[in-house]
Amino acid sequence: MIELKEIIKEYEVNNQNIVTALKGINLHIKEGELVVLKGSSGSGKSTILSLIAALSKPTSGEIIVDGDRISKLPDNFASDFRRHSIGFVFQKYNLISSLSVKDNIILPLVPMNLDEKEIEEKLSRVLKMFHIEHKKNQLVKNLSGGEQQRVAIARANINNPKIIIADEPTANLDEKLSLHFIDIVKELKAQGKTIVIATHDPLFFGLEIVDREIEIYQGAIV
Ligand code: ADP
Ligand code: ADP
Repeated sequence: MIELKEIIKEYEVNNQNIVTALKGINLHIKEGELVVLKGSSGSGKSTILSLIAALSKPTSGEIIVDGDRISKLPDNFASDFRRHSIGFVFQKYNLISSLSVKDNIILPLVPMNLDEKEIEEKLSRVLKMFHIEHKKNQLVKNLSGGEQQRVAIARANINNPKIIIADEPTANLDEKLSLHFIDIVKELKAQGKTIVIATHDPLFFGLEIVDREIEIYQGAIV
């Protein structure tokens, strides 16, 4: 489902210094696998996620996601690829607190020109799946932390993507909400989603549902 071949990623800092964030990553993640990328801050985890989501391009190497050679995709195709194939869960939920639950969840559909019926179908599927139907018309700022978390995950799933990517998803959560998040991950895995989580939260280590823990150190897999 996800294949990274000989990936090198360099960042240019202040137009002169080169930082090599990834130093030749080879990684093959199968469909339905749940993989945790672990490693200290600055090791390269977020860079790997942004490459898989086609948010940036590698300096060299090849990336194939769900049959698409995304390391070569032009930008307009990359955003289309992201909308259909990837659900991204951010550390801060990136919700708009002054909008309703419904409007937050359907935000990714705005550029897609769907008709009202298609939007309602997609919305109703994720509202049910993440048990927030009864909050549909409430403003996000009036929800509890756990409810906001479910709204964020519902939004990531609005297009029923095959791949879910999460970057430090529990960094701002207390233990109860973190365990809650793990339950949601279990559900997504049961649905056959391929899931990649970057984290240094020990709650994810040694979990039965995790197929592989991959440690990143200074831009390489150890
Ligand atoms: P992690 O997610 O494991 O904390 P990152 O992938 O964010 O690691 O960072 C890997 C390395 O790349 C770090 O040295 C970081 O400073 C550098 N880096 C990440 N993003 C950028 C950027 N946009 N510009 C310059 N350097 C960056
Ligand atoms: P939990 O801690 O279980 O996540 P809370 O105790 O924070 O939940 O919230 C319980 C209920 O009260 C939730 O349904 C939430 O939507 C509602 N609620 C919480 N804060 C507010 C608020 N400021 N205004 C309106 N409703 C709220």
